This record gives sequence, structure tokens and C-alpha cells, in this order.
Amino acid sequence: MTQEFDGKVALVTGAAMGIGAAVAELLAERGAKLVLVDRDAGALAEIAGRTGGEAVAGDLADRATLEAAIARVKERFGRLDVLSNNAGIQRYGTLETTTDALWDEVFDVNLKAIFRLSGLAIPLLRETRGAIVNMASVQGLASQANVVAYTAAKHALIGLTRAAAVDHAHEGIRVNAVAPGSVDTPMLRKTITMADDPAALSAIIDGMHPLGRRAAAREIAEVVAFLASDRASFVTGAVYVADGGLTIP
Ligand code: NAD
Repeated sequence: MTQEFDGKVALVTGAAMGIGAAVAELLAERGAKLVLVDRDAGALAEIAGRTGGEAVAGDLADRATLEAAIARVKERFGRLDVLSNNAGIQRYGTLETTTDALWDEVFDVNLKAIFRLSGLAIPLLRETRGAIVNMASVQGLASQANVVAYTAAKHALIGLTRAAAVDHAHEGIRVNAVAPGSVDTPMLRKTITMADDPAALSAIIDGMHPLGRRAAAREIAEVVAFLASDRASFVTGAVYVADGGLTIP
């Protein structure tokens, strides 16, 4: 049976766990060949084994990792159709408690790595009229308490998405973002575990979404797969909100 991503190659960051791992699994199931990047080498090797993907272990804040990922795409497959930027970190702080170091840590991964990797990928995506899908957040559109750096970086990522969509539309390259609400991943589980009353926070998180629950990573991966596919051929510069209704009110 023909699959949607047969013959296509996707570069997926943050692929070792959470949303990135779900994206890798879904794209592989639908026929894509993968290059997977993450700094958690052990977990990455496991996902690479499950999906038949090529693993590039390294820190995305380090330019050498980005160059190694693009080099692997070129030498292994010679083409790139999809860049799925998922890797991100959540750190807490207000204007007063966010240090320069924390600000830089968040921006280096959540924004600068995406800016750099997307720039390196553009020549390959130009050849295939490919697609970039950036993992933003509802915190790219709104905010909550104590997440100044994260919210600022996600808002900026949406700005980057729109600017890049304008610049590369004439080349047939589409650039979109996804803005999830709470998603059941190691990132969210860590936030819950760190709370004074984890069970209470867990219930609050589910309850603040009108659908009454957090998302499964696979549900967000489905949105990524749509935006990466030819089914979204007239969609660019868009921010697809997948938040169980969180931002309706
Ligand atoms: P996660 O922490 O569960 O997984 C993130 C993955 O990225 C991990 O495998 C980690 O090793 C990797 N990673 C992080 N920093 C890296 C670096 N410097 N170099 C290489 N790899 C790195 O997170 P998740 O929940 O799957 O989040 C994925 C994306 O979705 C993030 O951008 C996050 O901001 C966004 N998001 C998550 C939620 C949520 O509720 N989980 C909601 C909205 C948006």
C-alpha cells in the first residue's frame, strides 16, 4: 500500500522522547525515512532502532550537532522533505528570578537552534519544495505565571515561523507552527512531579482544558504530519492550535 511519506526524508529534532518521538514514529509508519537528533543518546538509539532512523546524538545548542545532522541527511539520503523542530526546554522564572544564564539556555535551544538548523536546511528543502514544522506552544500566544524566558522564546518562534514563511513561499517551502496545550510527555510529567501536591496539579492541568484532559503526544504528532504533508499544500505561516480548547476563553 502506498503511504503518504513514501520516498520522503524527514529530519526530526527532540526525537528521543515526548512529542518528537511521537512525530518520528508516525512519520516512519507513513513511509518516511528519518534522521533523528537528540542529546539523549540512549533513548535516541532506541527510537532510531524502532523507526529505522539514523541517529545523530548531540546538543542542538552546539552548531556542530546541526551541521552533523544536515551532513547525515545529505550523505545517507541526498534529499530533505520535512524538518520537524521539536526539541525544547521548559524553565521557570519571572523578570526578577530569570538569570542571564537561564535566559540564554532557553533561547539557545528553543529559538536559536531552530533558526540555525532551518537556515542550514533551506537549500535542501528548496530542491524538494519541502516543509518546516516548528513546535511552539500556547505559550507562544498567551502566557502563565513564572515562565518569562519560555514564553518569550515561543512567541519569537511564531514570529520566526511567519517571517520564514513569507521569505520562502515563492520557492514552494511551507513553514508552519503547532501550538499545543498540555501534552503527556516527560517534560509535563517532570513539572507535575516537582509540584508540592502533584496529584492536585495533575487534576488542575487536565481540568483547565475544556476537553477535560491533556493531549497524548501522538495527537500532536498528527497535526505535525498534516502540516508536513501535501494535504496542507496551501497552508503556510500558520499556527495550528491543538490545545483541547484551552485558549478558547
Ligand atoms: P520532552 O522534554 O519530553 O522531550 C524533549 C526532547 O528534546 C528530549 O528528548 C530532550 O532530550 C530533547 N532536547 C532538549 N534539549 C535539547 C538539546 N539542547 N539538544 C538536543 N536535544 C534536546 O519535551 P516535550 O514535551 O516532548 O516537548 C517537545 C516540544 O513541545 C518542546 O519544544 C516544548 O516546548 C513543546 N511543548 C510541550 C508541551 C507539553 O505540555 N509537553 C506543550 C506545549 C509545547
